[in-house]
Amino acid sequence: MAKMEFRDLKKQYQLHRQAIDEAMRVVIEETRFIGGPQVARLEERLAAFVGVKHCIACGNGTDALQLALMAWEIGARDAVFVPDFTFFSSGEVVPLVGGVPVFVDVDPCTFNIDCGSLERAVEFVIHHTTYRPRAVVAVDLFGQPAEYDKIREITERYDMYLLEDAAQSFGGSLNGDRTCSFGDISTTSFFPSKPLGCYGDGGAVFTDNDEWADKLRSLHVHGKGGDKYDNVRIGMNSRLDTLQAAVLLAKLDFLEEEIASCERVADRYTTLLGDAVQTPHILENRRSAWAQYTVCFKDRNERDRVIKSMNEAGVPSAVYYKKTMHKQEAFRDRQVEAVSCAVAESLSERCLSLPFHPYLEEEQIGLVCESILRGIADVRG
Ligand SMILES: *Cc1c(COP(=O)(O)O)cnc(C)c1O
Repeated sequence: MAKMEFRDLKKQYQLHRQAIDEAMRVVIEETRFIGGPQVARLEERLAAFVGVKHCIACGNGTDALQLALMAWEIGARDAVFVPDFTFFSSGEVVPLVGGVPVFVDVDPCTFNIDCGSLERAVEFVIHHTTYRPRAVVAVDLFGQPAEYDKIREITERYDMYLLEDAAQSFGGSLNGDRTCSFGDISTTSFFPSKPLGCYGDGGAVFTDNDEWADKLRSLHVHGKGGDKYDNVRIGMNSRLDTLQAAVLLAKLDFLEEEIASCERVADRYTTLLGDAVQTPHILENRRSAWAQYTVCFKDRNERDRVIKSMNEAGVPSAVYYKKTMHKQEAFRDRQVEAVSCAVAESLSERCLSLPFHPYLEEEQIGLVCESILRGIADVRG
């Protein structure tokens, strides 16, 4: 058996080599490395896939979030609510545009933003600070769409924008609607290990709003007006390379197939591990894009023993995320601490993400689960 990969991108390339090589060859021969026709073609296909009017491809998923906040002109005195359990980018972009992040606790089963905690945080900001609640960044963590019905009710009640960070959930859905369609603006990432990954950095912004779409198109190319030598605002240089667009066009053809395979792998893990650990809980009427398969142990000690047991068996694993957002040094003195984030705190001590990708074989799944169960047996005796 080959060395187990945490996410096997080599296997994917071997299977789809012809299509990917051909797509890249065309770009290299045409030499339109920036702004080639593949970029517009990709934007059209992604917008149609998601079911929104506009898609603007950009440099990466972090820039995509920043562009959204810039389009809304979020700045000083604006509070933006972000789940406490997520990748750093979801919150990093808020101080970057001059706003203040307010970290909110998450649900212990889905790991997504907890709407009760969100509401308490908004009330706190209104009554105890001089900041104005402006936006919520809802993250579809590990691939599962957040609870958009409830979140939308809160953003409407308090007149806030909803930004969907779908960096981990591209291809997932809720009540038949695809992720990247739930925010006033939604964003995703094409980082290689994401559900739809390119061969470098890449990202995209989605919206139905024509005015914001125009502004985003300007913002991501130096605040261009008529062209990039006519600059009407301060923007960024955040474009998706033509090569990356070509790779993504080729990969989009088999995304659905890969997600279906991920669902089969997830079912196998859940069958084998469900009695021993807390396995992922996907709510009704949802499809996860399965960026990660993340389990939770009783406590940190049990997790550490399991990691050791997995290491001994040559099985890779990763802790997403071992430090909660509000505890990051970068946010010290740069956040409003409005609510307790005890659930996020506890998850960060107990969670573990397992090797997971569409090409994981039954034998490998068996090896992963055996090493986990052995580690648990060591602790529980
Ligand atoms: C990966 C990720 C991002 C950032 O994407 P990059 O393309 O790496 O900049 C943002 N938010 C979440 C939740 C992510 O997982």
